[in-house]
Amino acid sequence: MKLCRYGEPGAEKPGLIDADGRIRDLSGEVDDIAGDALSASSLDRLSKIDPASLPMVAGDPRYGPCVGAIGKFMCIGLNYSDHAAETGAAIPEHPILFMKANSAIVGPNDDVVMPRGSEHTDWEVELGVVIGTTCKYVSEADALDHVAGYCVINDVSERHFQTKLTGQWTKGKSCDTFGPTGPWLVTKDEVGDVQDLAMSLDVNGKRMQTGSTSTMIFTVTQCISHLSQMFTLHPGDVISTGTPPGVGMGIKPEPVYLKAGDVMELSIEKLGSQRQTVRADQ
Ligand code: ZN
Repeated sequence: MKLCRYGEPGAEKPGLIDADGRIRDLSGEVDDIAGDALSASSLDRLSKIDPASLPMVAGDPRYGPCVGAIGKFMCIGLNYSDHAAETGAAIPEHPILFMKANSAIVGPNDDVVMPRGSEHTDWEVELGVVIGTTCKYVSEADALDHVAGYCVINDVSERHFQTKLTGQWTKGKSCDTFGPTGPWLVTKDEVGDVQDLAMSLDVNGKRMQTGSTSTMIFTVTQCISHLSQMFTLHPGDVISTGTPPGVGMGIKPEPVYLKAGDVMELSIEKLGSQRQTVRADQ
């Protein structure tokens, strides 16, 4: 099942993607794709609805972030062995965690706005994991029981802000619009093996990142179990699980960064695609 949120920013409605790829209105069934609506029992109920019985959404509305009221927006750093090799970094002993402000979250096709003075804005296609039910101290064996589904995330990053302005990464990761999320929340039953998904990112039509979730250092289950040893994970929390090789920062001999007018297109197998135009803040 593919769930979405559509409409103007801040006024998105819940939707379901039917077999023909059209949006059906879920407003009569749930208030939002958020909170309790992400539980296993809620998703089971929604899966039993005949999409043809739901109102079809007219036109071509904007997709909002596919999850509403995201609480914690957690990101795993350096989580792909081939990306770690590319950057020359050592394989981490434990998952590297940083937080992205949830004010960075935007729709999958919204503009990405480089903040004033930015000269080092970069891209990162990532698998997003959406928590469906509360868990703490969860075992790896039980971790997926608490997952509602998966989505595409672009972990947009300002490398100068990230590495030069502070002792940790939050400033460079949290700028407004630096968290495109969606287009869909794809439930885990429809994804199958989450550790075998192809992923890619193009800039202006040129392939920059090619990867697979099969080269993650810490798997989805390991990340969830590890994070839940520190704090409770709640419905609507999102974990962005790291990026494969090919970010601008790693290009030799000179890094390549985004400029106004650039277009990023990113995809993950089974999870859909995003497309963002980059612009500079005024
Ligand atoms: Zn990242």
